[in-house]
Parts: sequence; structure tokens; C-alpha cells
Amino acid sequence: MKLLEGKKALIFGVANNRSIAWAVAQAFSNAGAEVGISYAGEILKRRVEPLAESIGCDFVEECDVSKDEDINAIAEKAKEHFGKIDILVHSIGFADRNELRGPFYNTSRAGFHLAMDISVYSFVGLARAFQPLMNEGGSLLTMTYHGSTKVAPNYNVMGIAKAALEASTRYLAFDFGKEKIRVNAVSAGPIRTLAAMGVGDFKTMYKAFEAMAPLHENVTTEDVANAALFLCSDMSARTTGEVLYVDSGYNIMGVPEAIDG
Ligand code: NAD
Repeated sequence: MKLLEGKKALIFGVANNRSIAWAVAQAFSNAGAEVGISYAGEILKRRVEPLAESIGCDFVEECDVSKDEDINAIAEKAKEHFGKIDILVHSIGFADRNELRGPFYNTSRAGFHLAMDISVYSFVGLARAFQPLMNEGGSLLTMTYHGSTKVAPNYNVMGIAKAALEASTRYLAFDFGKEKIRVNAVSAGPIRTLAAMGVGDFKTMYKAFEAMAPLHENVTTEDVANAALFLCSDMSARTTGEVLYVDSGYNIMGVPEAIDG
């Protein structure tokens, strides 16, 4: 029997074939889940629809998570289509590019609000809207980054947003625990996706990561999807409120290895 046989999973955050959410959708589909996909807006429809079709997914819906009416509307559509669901994956983040370079103290009030709204509140808003639709034994999952606990130059307001997202994961895990629903996060190492390209000097960070991580390998979206599969399957039945690092071990390092010469 496949790991997600008989489970229904709704995945938010597919922008293109490089998105972490897309690797998750493929992994979940391969593991036997019935998958639904959500994307941010009309412009992405052209890219997302053929991807969804390639895995036989017939629930492909737009949802701008900055709008309560969009969140409520997709919950309503999911109820009609799936009845109840077992898994919700939140793979969404956004900050204005101007906030992701230069000193953090330059963060504007509007930029701070925007990053927190789309990258953090949306997880809470989706959890609330889908709470009546979640089956017992289900899972909610979000995607975070180590910039939440340590300084990653240029990551700036997104680091603060990820700290709040990880705290939200713990509070949601407490709430949903009563219903035997688990809430976890995957903390991925840097991957070349659309969102990552918005971070100033991402390429330097990407190279430094490979040099410093104990495994000396960059992370792929498939690596993250495999961890997501574990956290959303019964294999992790007693794990909740956790942040699971998929980062080739980078986060355990305090000092980089001596370089020859
Ligand atoms: P991505 O650009 O493919 O995905 C980000 C998604 O957020 C996109 O699908 C985008 O459309 C969506 N989004 C933005 N604003 C939205 C809105 N208002 N409503 C609905 N959706 C909206 O990039 P990704 O790297 O796959 O990012 C997915 C998640 O993984 C993000 O939370 C990101 O912070 C996190 N993450 C990424 C990395 C990395 O290096 N790529 C590392 C750790 C964590």
C-alpha cells in the first residue's frame, strides 16, 4: 500500500515546475494521494494547468491568500469537490524585492505588513478556513527557512516572517492537536526558485551553503517533497509542531571549515 493511498491533499503555492509545491504535488500523487492544486493568480494559470493535468489533478483553483474572500471561496470549492481533506500544504511566501537587500533597518512599515500577511497570516487563515474540512489524522504543513533563527544577509524581513511562521506552526499544532491533526514545517536549504531569486545576492548564499554544509550538496525540491511526504503521512504520526531541517546539515555548523591555502 502506498504511503498516501486514500488521502486527499490540497497544495498551495505552485507557480511553475521549479516550485517546491510542484515537487510536493508530484511526490504526493506518486504516493497515491488525490491531489488538488492552488495558485496565486490568473497570470500563473497558463503554467500551472498543464502541470496539474500531467498528474491527473482535476482540482486546480486560483486563490490570492491576501484576500479572505478568496480563502473562503477555495474552502467552499474544496468542500464541494473533495468533501473532506487529509492534507493541506502551504508553500507560499512573498516580500517586496526592495526589502530583500540592504540593511534590515530600512524595512518599511508597508513592506513589513505585506511580508507578514502573505508569508505568515495566510497559513493561519487557511488553517481556520479548512479546519472544518480536515479529517482526523490529517496534516498541515508549511515551508520555512533558517533565516528565522540566524541572520542570513539580505533575507531581512522574510527572516522575521519565517520566525513568526514557525511560532504559528507551534500554536496551530496545539490547537489542532485536540482533533488529532498535526501541524509541521520543513526548513529547506536554498533552492533556485522564483521566490529565492528575489533575495539579494542569492547566488553567493547558494554557493556558500554548499561549501559549508556537512553533506556539501545543495538541496533539491525533491528532497523537500520527500520530507513533506514523511510529515504528511502516518509515518510521522506522533510528530507535531516541529521544524524539520532539509538542509544537508547546514544549520548544525557554527564555524566554516578551514579552506586550503
Ligand atoms: P515559488 O516562487 O515557486 O513559490 C512561492 C509561491 O508563493 C508561488 O507559487 C507564489 O505564486 C505564491 N504566492 C505569492 N504571493 C501569493 C498570494 N498572495 N497568494 C497565493 N500565493 C502566493 O518559490 P518556492 O521556493 O517554491 O517557495 C515556496 C515556499 O518555500 C516559500 O514559503 C519559501 O519561503 C519557502 N522556502 C524556499 C526556499 C528556497 O530557497 N527556494 C528555502 C526555504 C523555504
